[in-house]
Amino acid sequence: MKLDDELRLIVLEKVGIYSKRFSTPEPQVFFTNKEVMAAPKEITEGCRTTAYKYYGVSYMEKNTIFINVKKIPDEKTLENTIVHELIHQRFPYLSHGKRFNKLVRQGLRGKTFDPYRKRNSPEISC
Ligand SMILES: [Zn+2]
Repeated sequence: MKLDDELRLIVLEKVGIYSKRFSTPEPQVFFTNKEVMAAPKEITEGCRTTAYKYYGVSYMEKNTIFINVKKIPDEKTLENTIVHELIHQRFPYLSHGKRFNKLVRQGLRGKTFDPYRKRNSPEISC
């Protein structure tokens, strides 16, 4: 798809809507491979030089996603990619598979999710 200011806004709006539904903080969004390459390496660690190959990438620990708009062919794929990356943000412990795909489908249908709580994090630390 052609990336222009209007499409940037549309993507950010969708990211905002789905982040709210999934109770996950709104991530920083990269729209181009250039932006991925220009970002500090500690943000894009794990998938930097190969990011251009994918429709989207999640940098979970840095609350950042890459939506590779120029590679995405149509609006349906765009929506799918946004939801896919935000499911990664909300369910960082889940890898790709049946359960993951089910959550993406539910997310696309408008399902909301409670906030993620790290199970092992101690309530009190001193
Ligand atoms: Zn994925």
